[in-house]
Amino acid sequence: MKKSKTLYTYCNSLTSYSRFNSRPVNIGDVQLGGDNPIRVQSMTTTDTMDTKGTVEQSIRMIEAGCEYVRITAPSKNEANNLSNIKKELRKQGYNTPLIADIHFTPNAAEIAARLVEKVRINPGNYADRKKFNYIEYTDQQYNEEIERIRNRFLPLVNVCKEYGTAMRIGTNHGSLSDRILSRYGDTPMGMVESAMEFLRICKEENYNEVVLSMKSSNPIVMVQAYRLLVHCMIKENMNYPLHLGVTEAGEGQDGRIKSALGIGTLLEDGLGDTIRVSLTEEPEFEIPVAKKLVERYSNRSNHDKIKAISINPINPFEYNLRETRQVLNIGRDNVPRVINDLNLLDKITVDTLSELGYTYFEKDDKWGISDLACDYIDIGKKEIDFRIPGTLGVIQAFSVWKHSKKEQHYPFLNVNQYLNERNIHPKLNFLYITLSELSDEIIDKTKNDSSIVLFIDTWNTHGLAEQRSIFIKLIKAKNDIPIIIGHAYGNLAPSDLQLYSSTDIGGLFIDGLGDGLYLAAENCGSLDKVNRTSFGILQATRTRITKTEYISCPSCGRTLFDLQEVTARIRSKTQHLKGLKIGIMGCIVNGPGEMADADYGYVGTGIEKISLYKKHNVIQKDVPMDQADEALINLIKENGDWIDP
Ligand code: SF4
Repeated sequence: MKKSKTLYTYCNSLTSYSRFNSRPVNIGDVQLGGDNPIRVQSMTTTDTMDTKGTVEQSIRMIEAGCEYVRITAPSKNEANNLSNIKKELRKQGYNTPLIADIHFTPNAAEIAARLVEKVRINPGNYADRKKFNYIEYTDQQYNEEIERIRNRFLPLVNVCKEYGTAMRIGTNHGSLSDRILSRYGDTPMGMVESAMEFLRICKEENYNEVVLSMKSSNPIVMVQAYRLLVHCMIKENMNYPLHLGVTEAGEGQDGRIKSALGIGTLLEDGLGDTIRVSLTEEPEFEIPVAKKLVERYSNRSNHDKIKAISINPINPFEYNLRETRQVLNIGRDNVPRVINDLNLLDKITVDTLSELGYTYFEKDDKWGISDLACDYIDIGKKEIDFRIPGTLGVIQAFSVWKHSKKEQHYPFLNVNQYLNERNIHPKLNFLYITLSELSDEIIDKTKNDSSIVLFIDTWNTHGLAEQRSIFIKLIKAKNDIPIIIGHAYGNLAPSDLQLYSSTDIGGLFIDGLGDGLYLAAENCGSLDKVNRTSFGILQATRTRITKTEYISCPSCGRTLFDLQEVTARIRSKTQHLKGLKIGIMGCIVNGPGEMADADYGYVGTGIEKISLYKKHNVIQKDVPMDQADEALINLIKENGDWIDP
């Protein structure tokens, strides 16, 4: 297909930071979109009928900086109780806008829209009940379906118009209607069209207080869907604001990395007007994480200038791995490599390597290698005085390497050395380069050099865009050299390192770019934590699977068990099942749909009752909670996915 300038357009610029110009939407007193700051929000996890508990939790969230509080309203009762919650909050001096979260129940939505500042509907289940049916629609039948949606949806639009209530049309990857799945499949385009069916009705009715979201637990799908949504809006002359989020991101490090990957990658390109980081933790703990993500963009437009890119050769709407040649064990079909920076250590010892996945067994004089064993260490001008594991490569400054040329050691070169030195390694050399150093001469010389891997770095605050420009330049020059993405950080808490590096480096992996990563992290926590962050980024981008993935919902008023406790318990029993995806969902209403691509599901169906799923199919219903863990393990065993720890 011939690429035009607009073919892959989804943001203002790939190189110069600016926010996509969305239309402002009024949500109570806190306007969203336009020039307003990127807002942060979260959702209560209490029972909505528990007025006191919900008010207290809302206050904790507001005190933490939450700018909109979302509360689930699964039926008319909860929708009505929003009035009591709102009154109590206002009485205590909190005017933060409230949002009712609606699934399946138009009548609850119509009540809530009269009471709170915004309602969120899920277009996948507002007018449809999921039966997992595949239906071939003719165009006429499809149009009749749209007319049916219109009749079901119009009363809510009219209430919102009358009461000045805003609305979020919030698509979830895991709960698309059978109609959408039949026509578009389980794809970003399906997600976009799911929202567009409803959005077009709003537009025809001249109701524009609308916000859109495209959430998924898979950050790659999520990023592609938002980009495609903006692309489609541009084509249809729309610019509704975006609410960003990764659903069921999980807890701890994994949850932070997944959220930052999805949300941060979009924020980098100026997309997003409000964000929710959904973690399986108390909602007030989500707010500082969200703020950290957003803060990075307050002065971003002052970044160092990057040469504009007129045509983007990377399809931002589907995943395509950049094809590279193989240099030793880097590039082509190899998993992305993890490199750790040991430059700052006084001495490198056996214990140093134990932080990086290698355990030395003195008795047998052997190394144990874990799934999180890094592939290379950069030791700068230092030397190593013990026998290293056979799978580990050592990167050494060229000036030192050239005098010793030890086994498993490879030189780190600058541009000058690469252009002038003759005696480089015959098999593998790392060439350090930034965008400004990537000359035509370097591009030509590296094109046919089978011993060179590029190590790219950036000092630009708009680093992802600058490093993406390097990839684009090489793709356009048809240079398939493997590339290690490097990024330096200093003086950060480990949790902030997770957020920032997932955005800066992970955002490139989301687009199929990168053959390895190198986090140079000075005073950002232990080597072990830095190494785990690198592997976490690769796991979340699904480019190198080293552990079990848990897709656990953040919990809400519908949750039927203690999600944090159950997730921790299931994790402790299954965390050795590398590559398996296990969904842990608080309720049957949305759980099965929202765990999307999980291999197995553990879903609350009643008090102390669990249903177990294999993919989308329910296998055992209403298992008593005290037997459910064992039943899950048995199910995994029956399907041949179990291995003993
Ligand atoms: S899956 Fe979890 S967050 Fe979603 S509605 Fe059910 S309990 Fe709430």
